[in-house]
Amino acid sequence: MKPFIVPKDATSWVEVAPGSDFPIQNLPFAVVDHKGRGEGMVCAIGDFALDLTYLYEEGFIDEEEFPWLDSMAALDREMMTELRSRIFTLLSAENSELRDNAKHRKRALLPLAGLAFQVPIPPTTFVDFYSGIHHASNVGRMFRPDQPPLLPNYRHVPIGYNGRASSVVATGTNIIRPKGQTKAPDAEGPSFGPTAEMDFELEMGFYIGHGQEMGKRITCKAAEEHILGMVIVNDWSARDVQRWEYQPLGPFLSKSFATSVSPWLVTLDALEPFRIEGMEQDPEVLHHIRRQGQQHFDINLEVWLQSAKMKKPQRICVSNAKHLYWSMSQQLAHQTSNGTPVEFGDLYASGTISGPEEGSFGSMLELTWRGSKPLTLEETGETRTFLEDGDVLTMKAFAESDGLRIGFGACSGKILPAN
Ligand code: MN
Repeated sequence: MKPFIVPKDATSWVEVAPGSDFPIQNLPFAVVDHKGRGEGMVCAIGDFALDLTYLYEEGFIDEEEFPWLDSMAALDREMMTELRSRIFTLLSAENSELRDNAKHRKRALLPLAGLAFQVPIPPTTFVDFYSGIHHASNVGRMFRPDQPPLLPNYRHVPIGYNGRASSVVATGTNIIRPKGQTKAPDAEGPSFGPTAEMDFELEMGFYIGHGQEMGKRITCKAAEEHILGMVIVNDWSARDVQRWEYQPLGPFLSKSFATSVSPWLVTLDALEPFRIEGMEQDPEVLHHIRRQGQQHFDINLEVWLQSAKMKKPQRICVSNAKHLYWSMSQQLAHQTSNGTPVEFGDLYASGTISGPEEGSFGSMLELTWRGSKPLTLEETGETRTFLEDGDVLTMKAFAESDGLRIGFGACSGKILPAN
């Protein structure tokens, strides 16, 4: 499949401010709720969302060529590539179809502020991997200090678990502090109540376009043909609940209360200039999940925290998707290696993406080293070990080099008190 890569020097008649996440080279898709008109797909350009529903109604997108897009359900990677190519043409500086029609231009371009973003695709399946090797090492150091930081399987098999698809929510959705069963080390027995260790996990995720039937697998080489695009994922976590429940079958209620995703599905075509080899894999992994060429992406990641008392958020983490040990393609090849089917709308999250040093850790657990080194919020002097009620946690992601920026926008959520 040939990617559609917008030339680096291409420009749009829509003005795009320098540093925008959404130049004409990006063209990511989202689903918004138009008040009174139901849901529809939009495509980002600068500070605007191009309303695809309107373009259909007015004949700018051919219904014969593309199915009606009130959701992404009809899309596979090939069709998305063609749709992006058509939108590129419409938005190109040289193209007059929309540019020179004031009425259509005004109606088709919706200001980004004020849009009600939905989950890009409500997933049918949600899997959470554990492919951030620095995160896995940090967790090992904290919880198994007398053993090597990584378990013996880590460099051989992409670790993951089946999460809960029904609690995947859109950016901006408030997160109610979950209750759960915990046991303090010195307590005689467990108790039930609001988590005292509310945490986030900085992750990226990918959605499946066309799937694979049961009994067949997706090879590492073919995996990207099945990947519709990427989003930011916040895998909210209740650490005290997790600690008590996770053995021997893995996390359950400590993760399933909510997972937030960013609104824009950023295509691999747009990320093409940011391909990288990824970190060395040693020892060499088994053939069925061996890496094929450059299957990682250089994507900058940031986490920002704002308490109820603060006027501005503070950046608390700077990381990068290059710190993933396993690529998306390897994750998908591994997932299907036993013949399990994958379907349109499956969401796969990477695992927490921490960098190697302090300040690049992708969870409060690591940033405060299990609560032993509280974070100070400079503006108010407040401190944090884990998240408090009223805190707003925002993740950002963008690939950037030589003046080209492909952004993901933001994934945000506010913690509300337990019910
Ligand atoms: Mn996770």
